[in-house]
Amino acid sequence: MTTDDVPREHRLFIDGERRDVSDSIAVRDLAEGAPLGAVSAAGEAEAEAALAAAQRAKRPMRETTVVERAAWLEAIAERIESDRDRLAETIVREAGKPIGSARGEVGLAAERFRRAAAEVRDRTGEYREGSTEGHEGWRALVKHEPVGTVLCVGPYNYPLSTVAYQVAPALAAGNSVVLKPSSKTPISAGLLTELATEAVDLPDGALNYVPGRGSVIGDTLAGDDRVNAIAMTGSSAAGERIARQSGIVELHLELGGNAPAIIFPDADLENAAGACTAGSLKFAGQRCSAVSRVLAHESVHDEMVERLDATMEGWEPGDLFEESTTLGPLIDESQAEWVEELVEDAVESGARVVRGGDRDGVFFEPTLLAEVPHDARIVHEEQFGPVAAVTTFGDETGALEIANGGEYALDAAVFTTDHDRALRVAERVDAGAVRINGAPSHGLGDVPFGGNKASGIGREGIGTTIEAFSRKKSIIL
Ligand code: NAP
Repeated sequence: MTTDDVPREHRLFIDGERRDVSDSIAVRDLAEGAPLGAVSAAGEAEAEAALAAAQRAKRPMRETTVVERAAWLEAIAERIESDRDRLAETIVREAGKPIGSARGEVGLAAERFRRAAAEVRDRTGEYREGSTEGHEGWRALVKHEPVGTVLCVGPYNYPLSTVAYQVAPALAAGNSVVLKPSSKTPISAGLLTELATEAVDLPDGALNYVPGRGSVIGDTLAGDDRVNAIAMTGSSAAGERIARQSGIVELHLELGGNAPAIIFPDADLENAAGACTAGSLKFAGQRCSAVSRVLAHESVHDEMVERLDATMEGWEPGDLFEESTTLGPLIDESQAEWVEELVEDAVESGARVVRGGDRDGVFFEPTLLAEVPHDARIVHEEQFGPVAAVTTFGDETGALEIANGGEYALDAAVFTTDHDRALRVAERVDAGAVRINGAPSHGLGDVPFGGNKASGIGREGIGTTIEAFSRKKSIIL
């Protein structure tokens, strides 16, 4: 790609206006290994201004109609699509994602706006009649109202599509939004705000873009009584902090994961190896749904390792703008050091390195670890790197013990040709979602998605989130 029109600077957008502040956040260009630009960093005063603007916008937003809001969302979707190249280039550079995946993310973001429009058009309220003795002739209307203001806190790994997943349903339900992107990848969300506010004439304060360090403005935003709902995607530690600050609000915390793929001896091992390789290596493993642990029955461990080794061939880091590139860097040096620490711990515990294991700066080699002992940290902690860690189990109960043993419970996969076993294990595995004979995947947001335990609270999905960010008012006639 030769276009070079990624915005190098992004200012705050509060109460319908751009704002300058003296502090800024530097953003790295992971495609060039050089500085990319800077984004204004909100401090407490700007966080407060955004909250006040969102509060003022609650009423005009509540008074909008479904038809009006659906038209906005469709216009935003169109605008995203017409600016897809610029958005994709931004994602490649600030998130280090290969161009093919970045384009996919832009398409997903647009589709999420479009889908939110369709879903909200279907929410027409209810008419109820008394159904118990003594309540004959009793009638009521049940209508949907917005909850008020939604605080959206984005992660770095899907800087556009995850933000769309939060903002589109929030606006669809008629809420005002305070959007705080990840400080590692704030430009995509800034560009989305710019495109959305150019595409439609939102009330002032309906969509506020407030980049700023979570450590500086996080408590101010999450702890404010004017916020009625929070959609946050990120690490369990940050989610827990937000939950402690937030008080009585609708909480959607989409947090860390450590998905197991459980491989039974009767599985189609070729299919399992392909799915686990892609599940482990896509976006260098920086996905909450990544296959982080391959739990192979002891009778198929060696064959599974051989097949994984073969399918990992060809996953090499390359130029992020080459269509054929499948693997990019990790987001920063500290993430690469973290993955290295977990791999070293596994090896010291007795795991065998079949391929990879080393890093060059922010690039971590696609890594395959075999015979990983159950007490190695990588079996229980979120790695967020391109590592498939294979360990064994003896029977179904043993597999579930390992799968359910850690603090995360977001996603899982089961590979078997035994239909009854697939359903039995899917029901018993502690996870918000389980995929049978495939790597975890939730698509556009058609199914409710979210985690248990340290992986979060609440369920996300276009319709599910519109529902959660609305409340019902009953008018008794
Ligand atoms: P992170 O470091 O926790 O940051 C996520 C967001 O939270 C950022 O915007 C961050 O702001 C903000 N934040 C941090 N501390 C805060 C505070 N005290 N108050 C308010 N906001 C605060 O996570 P990340 O490194 O960007 O993302 C990786 C994590 O996200 C992984 O654990 C991954 O599993 C998880 N994830 C989960 C899902 C899911 O659907 N379950 C999806 C994608 C990612 P700053 O950047 O300014 O610190």
